[in-house]
Amino acid sequence: MNVATHLWMFLLLTALLLPLRGTAQPLCSTAELSRNCDFFKEKKSEAYISLEDGSYFTNPLFEGTSKPTPPAKRLPRERIDELFRFARENLLEEIAKGRSYQSLTADEKSQFRKIETLTKFKLGKSSEHDSCKSDGPNASYVPSDHTMIICESFLNEPSSLIVQTLAHELAHAIDPCHQRLPLLKKNIAKLLALPKSEDEWPDEIRKNPDSRRTLSRLRAQPAHEYSNFTNVTSLENPKVLEELEKQGWFEVAAPPVPANRNPNLATYNCLKAIPGIREVSNQDIADLARQYTDTVDNGMKPVDRYAIDSAVRKNMRDYQQCMPSFKGFSQMQEAMSNAWAAKVLGRWLALHPPKNETEKLAAISLELREICTPEKLGAKAATNLVKPARIAAGEAVRNSEIHPAGRITNDSITLSDPRIQNALQCKPMPNQTCTRSLGTLGPINKTEETSASSAPKKITN
Ligand SMILES: [Zn+2]
Repeated sequence: MNVATHLWMFLLLTALLLPLRGTAQPLCSTAELSRNCDFFKEKKSEAYISLEDGSYFTNPLFEGTSKPTPPAKRLPRERIDELFRFARENLLEEIAKGRSYQSLTADEKSQFRKIETLTKFKLGKSSEHDSCKSDGPNASYVPSDHTMIICESFLNEPSSLIVQTLAHELAHAIDPCHQRLPLLKKNIAKLLALPKSEDEWPDEIRKNPDSRRTLSRLRAQPAHEYSNFTNVTSLENPKVLEELEKQGWFEVAAPPVPANRNPNLATYNCLKAIPGIREVSNQDIADLARQYTDTVDNGMKPVDRYAIDSAVRKNMRDYQQCMPSFKGFSQMQEAMSNAWAAKVLGRWLALHPPKNETEKLAAISLELREICTPEKLGAKAATNLVKPARIAAGEAVRNSEIHPAGRITNDSITLSDPRIQNALQCKPMPNQTCTRSLGTLGPINKTEETSASSAPKKITN
């Protein structure tokens, strides 16, 4: 070949390769999708990144002397109602996987009912709720009243992010800890008629301080504006429960699902194996038991001793995932809720595909805001894990530490959902497998969007 031929071939190849390069799909990773946070760096003069519908999210890399006041437009309250309905109905679809309520297993029915009975939420003002005090969007599941608080700060956020977060909070009702509890429906009339003197209450309840406290709280205010259900550990003791039912104070609306019968065990085990997600170890359990024994030996009243003994038994048996405030803590509650949220976000994005990079990143913006903060940009591996020294010192675990790190949440959980991958037009990574064993896969069509409302058994609240 002469030089001219070489030149022609070179030009031809360049012409062929250039367009390929331009359309190369990014990997489904936070780093590639956000171009290592360059998305935010390029907009450093904008404090708020706006979407077409008037929603917006904050830019963690905003460089300005003073942060301007946020854009005035707020989404109407009805919009949150609509997104809450979407999250709830689509989570039910994910649990039922296209089957009728009757054909679900007993344990799946329990999951279904726990979500179906969660019909209302309170819009929280920052002045009323500690959880709503921070700047960023927030929401929380309230097990004692089986309801949810959605902070007003959510009213500005992109719809995809709201749907994902609401699904996450709903899923807490069936996370590995709450799934193990019976969901109880309160009999308001009977609770109001409870004897004023606790001495007249049945023995089983009087000698269990936690149950006694809960019951006394419920006697004082049995009716709740948002739900007539409760989902708390203090009433799960089988003897206490038997008594509560016998007296007609409560009825079991959804029975407990023990850890070894978790219908989503495959997903649970997959998440547990992700490096960087913390699960309680056998050593933690041993330490915890010793810590309790020491406390009991140091002289305690018989009543407190009862509570501690039962707590130890509970933890030793099957409560390993539910000890956020102890030395041994687990991130599995949050990881499982993230997995369900990914399924629901996938359904949302399948119906409302993002039209541009901003809309794509809005869907994963909550974790991005954490990952792309100036402090974390330099850090090699962002992890929320508590330092061993702190654990050894018996320091309490912080709320932020029971959540897997933002990068793990995005890369190993959220971005592993095939529908999300499809909507974000990114290439799956080899280890992104955990959400494949959960709920449904495949396309969603428009008619499915409302099918949950006609689906399975209705329960009145
Ligand atoms: Zn959570």
